Amino acid sequence: MKKESEEWRKAEKDVLPEMDKIISDGHLMHTPVEKDHIYLSAPHMGGKELTFIKEAFDVNWISPNGPNVDFFEKEFCEIIGAKYATALSSGTAAIHLALILSNVRRGDEVICSAFTFAASANPVVYQGACPVFVDSEDKTWNMDVNFLEEAIEDRIKKGKKPKAVILAHVYGQSADIDPIVEICKQNDIVLIEDAAESLGSYYEEKHTGLFGKFGAFSFNGNKIITTSGGGMLVSDDKDLIWKAKFLSTQARDSAPHYQHSQVGYNYRLSNVLAGIGRGQLIVLDDRVKARRANYYFYEKMLDRLPGISFMPEADFGRSNRWLTCIIIEPKEFGATRDDIQLALEYEDIESCPLWKPLHLQPVFRGFPYYGSHLSEKLFSKGLCLPSGSNLTDDDKRRVVSVFERKYEEGKKETSKKNF
Ligand SMILES: *Cc1c(COP(=O)(O)O)cnc(C)c1O
Repeated sequence: MKKESEEWRKAEKDVLPEMDKIISDGHLMHTPVEKDHIYLSAPHMGGKELTFIKEAFDVNWISPNGPNVDFFEKEFCEIIGAKYATALSSGTAAIHLALILSNVRRGDEVICSAFTFAASANPVVYQGACPVFVDSEDKTWNMDVNFLEEAIEDRIKKGKKPKAVILAHVYGQSADIDPIVEICKQNDIVLIEDAAESLGSYYEEKHTGLFGKFGAFSFNGNKIITTSGGGMLVSDDKDLIWKAKFLSTQARDSAPHYQHSQVGYNYRLSNVLAGIGRGQLIVLDDRVKARRANYYFYEKMLDRLPGISFMPEADFGRSNRWLTCIIIEPKEFGATRDDIQLALEYEDIESCPLWKPLHLQPVFRGFPYYGSHLSEKLFSKGLCLPSGSNLTDDDKRRVVSVFERKYEEGKKETSKKNF
């Protein structure tokens, strides 16, 4: 398995033959003339989206449900190898429905990754349940299985077995899933994968989001593919996906009038937006390649600067490299993460600190936390670089030139600075 992914990576480097040329052509100290705004992760349409939207208009399916939604679900399953899927209005809705279908209720506890976006854990609170945060490990920056084990044991000792685990695969890197699946199985706890950032990412040979009872995906505007807003819930359990669809369309009983025996939600994806999704699925592979090429570009250009290191890619599987993430050691580099973010902003380049861990978020203050301080370190020194699949080489050179300038400035100033 490991060998295969090594080969995969080697082959990938071969399909990027332009890289060296591009890099040697554009010398970095020059300031490009064009100064368009560079986004962190902009939408990137493939070309077929409007065709599918037009089909929806032609048959007047401007509602939730409809043929694009059905096809989108089917095509999504085929591409990632899922059994059943239901298309929803957001990734957050997918996580919320997964919790409802896992029977998470008021007062229950749910273990969540600490190092992720707040939408991973917000639905726990929608259910009146209590999130319990678990820290990351070095190798993946995702949930550390040892701290997970400690959390489960301690919560059980305190009298409450967690109902579910929400495992995030951040920035497209899969967590080390097998041992986590195993611990959840041993303790009879439902595993929900938050694969919002990991569409196109694999653990061994299997797509992320297919290991837990549920997998939740997002098609928000900044994700690797987008429907402008949307999500997908997948599972091997046909019945659960049927129930998710039922709950997402207001839980209407089969009766001639509007009859409801349960509280429902308006969480279905619209047929128009599913048309965008169908067009985006066609180009998913290209998007992964482009994002990985961004990473290689930055790695090649920035790795030689002292104090810059990159998010590791674990030797199992493949990351989609949704965002290229770096760690800046201010003492070695001569400038802090914040200095660099500001310098980029000054050049009209959007970047973003790594996720602020959820146990440090004011909204989650007071909820239990298990870990050391890895996620806090990542947050204090980490930066996401512009990573859209539609970035040009000039865009990326502009980013790199800011780093080179800050480094040169830092060399002159370090004697005066005290980080
Ligand atoms: C984007 C994201 C979500 C939420 O998805 P939406 O479609 O925006 O609701 C959840 N978790 C993570 C880790 C995300 O990055």
